[in-house]
Amino acid sequence: MGKSSKDRRDIYYRLAKEEGWRARSAFKLLQLDQEFGLLDPAKVKRVVDLCAAPGSWSQVLVSRLNPTGAEGPDAPAHIVAVDLQAMAPIAGVAQLQGDITKTATARGIIDLLGGKPADLVVCDGAPDVTGLHDIDEYVQSQLLIAALNIATFVLGPGATFVAKIFRGRDVSLLHAQLKIFFQSVSIAKPRSSRNSSLEAFAVCQCYRPPIGYEPNLSNPLLTGYYDFDLSQLRGSNRVVVPFVACGDLSAYDADRNYPLSDAHQHSEPAQPPISPPYLEAAELKRSDRLAKPSSESAAADAAAAADSA
Ligand code: SAM
Repeated sequence: MGKSSKDRRDIYYRLAKEEGWRARSAFKLLQLDQEFGLLDPAKVKRVVDLCAAPGSWSQVLVSRLNPTGAEGPDAPAHIVAVDLQAMAPIAGVAQLQGDITKTATARGIIDLLGGKPADLVVCDGAPDVTGLHDIDEYVQSQLLIAALNIATFVLGPGATFVAKIFRGRDVSLLHAQLKIFFQSVSIAKPRSSRNSSLEAFAVCQCYRPPIGYEPNLSNPLLTGYYDFDLSQLRGSNRVVVPFVACGDLSAYDADRNYPLSDAHQHSEPAQPPISPPYLEAAELKRSDRLAKPSSESAAADAAAAADSA
């Protein structure tokens, strides 16, 4: 594959490199901001960026809220970024490496905020996709629950929570549950998110937990999510989930190919990943040490796939 072929296939990948963003995901947050006005520097002073690596959302947050990358108590905004993976530093962003589903990470975030409430928690978390939709949707929902749990500890009244979801069969239930904590919940699809993907973002505004609600790290929210019978929802809980396409209508369409101009010059990624898991696999493959599936395990995999079809 030539160096420019991904540039040709994916306009947002190309633009991200040209504009210095670490990942094409930057445009998703920029387009969500365009629609919902999430990043107002007068209002947003403390932000938690969950599942932040390689860091393009953190770059967007800094560029809007703390453009000089100032650090310390007088900085115009405090941004905490968290990921399982190591992330190259960004001026103005405090980093924590950890698993957001673990209590220790949640405590670390709360400590880094120094007891002050956050105005915005964002989570663009995505597990490694298996291709088995039910499993992928379930694992994604676990990340969302972990993010919401952390959010309930740190968000101040009126604050905002934005999280990636997969638009599966349970989106109405998810919407109803998020509405317990937020006055307004929209499910949004930025133009830079491919239509072919189930990805969307829950944009939850105006945090107002139920009276008497106490966050509890050892008793996570929304457990039983997958056992819930949707037909139990009554009255105002049975709503049509608001769905918002966002990003200017003239914005590039993520599912289209845009030809490269004659003047196009290939550029390298703004920040290559520090220690991506595929490096080890690539090295094992090069040295012919990558385990090959045995005929029995291949047959078992095929049977499992047929079962789930
Ligand atoms: N928003 C990021 C950006 O703009 O650069 C991209 C995020 S990427 C799509 C998804 C991230 O979720 C990965 O970096 C992955 O390591 C992280 N992730 C997945 N599961 C996680 C977990 N349990 N705890 C923390 N991070 C997790």
